[in-house]
Amino acid sequence: MPRLPYLEVTAASYADAYTAGLQVTDTRDGAVLSGSCPRCACPFDFTYTRRVFRYPRPGGRSAPAVTVPVLCVCETPHEGRPADEEGCGAYWNVVLERTS
Ligand SMILES: [Zn+2]
Ligand SMILES: [Zn+2]
Repeated sequence: MPRLPYLEVTAASYADAYTAGLQVTDTRDGAVLSGSCPRCACPFDFTYTRRVFRYPRPGGRSAPAVTVPVLCVCETPHEGRPADEEGCGAYWNVVLERTS
């Protein structure tokens, strides 16, 4: 695959492209999202921890959907990436609906 330079960017198509092949594994306090970056196409796991977000405790039968900000954290070196950053710079939001 072609090497893309690092660029902090988002696009309306990223969320749909990402969720099309996404696997979500529930963890004790969040979820692990396994998918491929819609920009650079590298596969990566993104760990989402619910406790960093301030959502009301789910008290009813249907928990609210949660919007998770995802950013590419692939391990492929992308040209121009700052030393303290990961991935290719792409970011987008994923809406997770909790079923529990
Ligand atoms: Zn990448
Ligand atoms: Zn990427």
